[in-house]
Amino acid sequence: MTEPVEIKIAAASRSYSVWVGPGLFERASELIPLPERAEVAAVVTDGRVQALQEQRLDAGFAGTQLRMARFALEPGERSKTIADIEGLARGFADAGMHRGDIVLSLGGGVVTDVAGFAAAIYHRGVAVAHLPTTILAQVDAAIGGKTGVNLPEGKNLVGAFHQPVAVLADVTALATLPEEELRSGLAECVKHAFLADTGLANVLVDEREAIFDRDADVLTRVVSRAAEVKARVIERDETEAGERAALNYGHTLGHALEALGGYERWRHGEAVSIGMTFAAALAAELGLPNFIAEHRRVLEALGLPTRGVGDVPFKAVWEVMRGDKKYDAGIRFVVLEAPGRAKIVSDVPREALERAYEEVA
Ligand code: NAD
Repeated sequence: MTEPVEIKIAAASRSYSVWVGPGLFERASELIPLPERAEVAAVVTDGRVQALQEQRLDAGFAGTQLRMARFALEPGERSKTIADIEGLARGFADAGMHRGDIVLSLGGGVVTDVAGFAAAIYHRGVAVAHLPTTILAQVDAAIGGKTGVNLPEGKNLVGAFHQPVAVLADVTALATLPEEELRSGLAECVKHAFLADTGLANVLVDEREAIFDRDADVLTRVVSRAAEVKARVIERDETEAGERAALNYGHTLGHALEALGGYERWRHGEAVSIGMTFAAALAAELGLPNFIAEHRRVLEALGLPTRGVGDVPFKAVWEVMRGDKKYDAGIRFVVLEAPGRAKIVSDVPREALERAYEEVA
């Protein structure tokens, strides 16, 4: 049996553990530090995950006196709205939830973002524990306390920082995750590898078959290393004043492609994969070391795209990037100046961007 890995995070506002391993949901009440006077646990999930995973969580709370209140969102990004937050908050009130109770989010990044935001503002903040069930949520969305919802005007425009009391990244849950969701999430693991753990890139390539076979041991290794990278960044920069921005590696172009593709043509991870390759090309344009081939080697081994934007004019991409919320007196890009070392550049000449864009055509 694979032993779980505990990653401790000492963020400015709270210290907590991220547990990574198989069979964690069944141990939920033991691993989550429950508020002393908690009487109600509000389980927020989505319809699909509820059918596949909620019973496991129930087993994890079987021995407690907690009253479980259940809330299932529609699966997918369309559930990230202010209306969903109001629905949850009113549901919490109907369930008699008090300040000392706890929210348990069970699902992908949509669920952790929405449940986390509802927890951040209900009674001006109740405890939340995340039980992420996608790779993306396990290595990224559930860690670090960023929560929020979309507006018709843009993604993630409303939200709050609210750190969880614990994160249980149960790799057993990944067994039911569709292959394309798994692959898309692996793009974030590659991102963390390039940013801070270059050895992880080789693990991803060498162990790709075991990863897609959902081998618990290999998944525990990969998820814990990728989660560790995010954890260390959060500790140093909880509210994205500086270093945390490096986690947007590949995302400036990635977000633009997602939007231009109507959020259908490319999955998030696919767009980020092309975006990271573009960032590698941009680094080369700016006279930094050339890691384009290394990006293609790792990403393509996992079946992720590193080109394919030939029919999307640069002008369209440029317009969207300028409207990005990360826009701060100029478009900023994260580039690698060495393996495992990122830096942020702004004032990049448009011609350099255009030439880098040709590399991912
Ligand atoms: P998601 O939550 O929509 O999940 C993807 C799909 O997989 C859904 O249909 C879901 O029902 C299904 N699913 C989830 N777990 C499953 C499982 N174990 N078995 C079978 N099906 C399962 O998407 P996601 O990719 O996990 O998250 C994307 C969201 O995360 C975006 O809204 C993004 O903005 C957000 N995000 C937030 C942060 C942050 O720091 N807060 C970071 C990155 C991404």
